[in-house]
Amino acid sequence: MSEWKKRVENDMMRTFGPTQALLVRGEGCWVEDEDGTRYLDFLAGIAVNALGHAHPVMVEAISRQAATLIHVSNYFSTPPQLELAERLKRLTGAGDEGRAYFGNSGAEANEAAFKLARLNKGEHGTKWKILSLENSFHGRTMGSLALTGKPALHAGFEPLPGGVEYIESTVEALENAIDDSVAALIVEPIKGEAGVIELPDGFLEAARRLTAEHGALLIIDEIQTGAGRTGSWFAYQRAGIVPDAVTLAKGIGGGFPIGALVTFGRASQLFSPGQHGSTFGGNPLATATANAVLGEIERAGLVENARVRGEQLRALIEGVGSPLIIETRGAGLLVGVGLAEPVAPAIVRAALAAGLIINAPNDRSLRIAPPLIVGDAELAEFDTRFRAALAAI
Ligand SMILES: *Cc1c(COP(=O)(O)O)cnc(C)c1O
Repeated sequence: MSEWKKRVENDMMRTFGPTQALLVRGEGCWVEDEDGTRYLDFLAGIAVNALGHAHPVMVEAISRQAATLIHVSNYFSTPPQLELAERLKRLTGAGDEGRAYFGNSGAEANEAAFKLARLNKGEHGTKWKILSLENSFHGRTMGSLALTGKPALHAGFEPLPGGVEYIESTVEALENAIDDSVAALIVEPIKGEAGVIELPDGFLEAARRLTAEHGALLIIDEIQTGAGRTGSWFAYQRAGIVPDAVTLAKGIGGGFPIGALVTFGRASQLFSPGQHGSTFGGNPLATATANAVLGEIERAGLVENARVRGEQLRALIEGVGSPLIIETRGAGLLVGVGLAEPVAPAIVRAALAAGLIINAPNDRSLRIAPPLIVGDAELAEFDTRFRAALAAI
């Protein structure tokens, strides 16, 4: 066993399975291991590295802000924090009535959303239930785990915070489950961890109508789908709906840890001072970095690039013509590949051996989520390496 693998076994908490390589640097869509082997990174740290690795705009923003002001606590405001709040209100469409809360991860964004939902008690104080979808993923902390509709992830950690009910991802199931006891419905517009599974047509529109009728908040978890990845700034925008709250993380920091809850309309009035907080949340280093990342996505037209390159990527995958590949799923540069056999982990290993990083959310699904900067050269490299991986199965 190589030296670093022994160190992983000895030193790292056993929360994760074995890791695949010891990576030491990256540039653009490429990362490099300790031996100098280069890998085409078509996972992007799980839909995080929107600008790829070592992007000069990020390097400059982090360096400049680190030399200016890194952290001050939430007893104080800073210009990057206010700029990011305004930017997120604009990009999400929350507008003037919107508000932003900052944490450090997706789980923290969803914890804040969970507490927001609890505060939506309704006129007569009768609301207590939160609806979530079966097979959804919202994070690993106790609250976000309670929102997560995967019993296997709950095992060993009960009792979880209560009041969450999991329903099938159908309009019919939602119609049956919703009533005036429901404080909120939380949904991923595309279920990334489940294998990049889209919601049925019309689901978000129905969810908006039904939650509004019953005074429940519609919370959209855009942690994986947000920041341009699906070819629109946020995936709910393609359904033409306006939610009550959106949770963000992953792509908005481009790799720098940050999470956010953005509220719309009356949901912006639910929290009052002292009810929630985070020491690091929204510090100037994190928010300056997110401003730089989102600013570059806008400047370079990367939302449109995600849409166009996503179609090209799916055409390449389908063009392989492998009998193992049943379908491609998702939107923009969040692509799922449905497989005829439970060979996804074997394909991921063969891809790594061919110098390509992709991922298997389950045995029959691949997830492919390259940086949003991906271009012709990287797609051509992907094609070669992906074909080599499939040929090795
Ligand atoms: C990754 C993810 C989370 C959790 O984010 P962390 O930063 O890992 O806590 C929550 N929801 C969705 C949809 C995610 O993809």
